[in-house]
Amino acid sequence: MKFVTYINDGESGVGVLNAAETSVIPAAELGLEAKTMNELIDELRGGLPTVPAGVKELALSDIKLDAAIPEPKQDIICLGLNYRDHAEEATRADAVFDVQRGDAVYFAKRLQRAVAPGGIIDGHFDICDSLDYEVELGVVIGKDAKNVKAADAAEYIFGYTIINDVSARNLQTRHKQWYFGKSLDDFTPIGPCIVSAEKLGAMPELDIRCYVNGELRQNSNTRMMIFDIPYIIEELSAGMTLKAGTVIATGTPSGVALGMEPSVREYLKSGDVIRCEIEGIGVLENAIG
Ligand code: MG
Repeated sequence: MKFVTYINDGESGVGVLNAAETSVIPAAELGLEAKTMNELIDELRGGLPTVPAGVKELALSDIKLDAAIPEPKQDIICLGLNYRDHAEEATRADAVFDVQRGDAVYFAKRLQRAVAPGGIIDGHFDICDSLDYEVELGVVIGKDAKNVKAADAAEYIFGYTIINDVSARNLQTRHKQWYFGKSLDDFTPIGPCIVSAEKLGAMPELDIRCYVNGELRQNSNTRMMIFDIPYIIEELSAGMTLKAGTVIATGTPSGVALGMEPSVREYLKSGDVIRCEIEGIGVLENAIG
């Protein structure tokens, strides 16, 4: 089941895609009161709605998709250097990334409002001279998780989405940590949908790719993560409650601009189009303003 946030005649709503992925079934048609993705996650409490026959649908061509979860309640929890090939390219590029391996690297990414599929990303070129992309699998928690064992992680996952962890490399290196350089307005496109976890489980093996202006830059599979999702949920929930609606960005594979040889390194510029794809979830495409 694919959940979306949409805008219809200026009004925001949530719903599920029909099987053909040509229209949206609004939550109200499923007997739900939710108007936002946060409300939908709370209302479903880890369950899934049933879709009755003959419900009213909104054609995708008549509405606009918004970010899958436009305003998460809290900052996004991010994994750094969670694909071995990316950890190697980042360490090669800048000593600030040369962390001791052995434990997961966690950090936060602030967002005021996630960018919708097709939305424009402000490159903040007045303060950023090294704008980069990072396609990532996003995990959305479905019910409050505290002291969850890895074996039980699947029942706490609402679903999966695509996140572009847009990054200002000069800021994240200058300030010796990643919070500021990854938290500028528009630096978090999320979408196009959230795929419920009932079929994918807690260890999805999905092809993950990123293209810039049609050129393939990142190409991997989520099974290449160093710390997998059950591990992450067990470790974090042992000390902090992961509230329903929490979003976790699970790290990016190699192929970011930072990882290129300095002589050929191509950071993003105005007009560039970034296309993030994850198998079974869809495409998240955005241009730089
Ligand atoms: Mg990242």
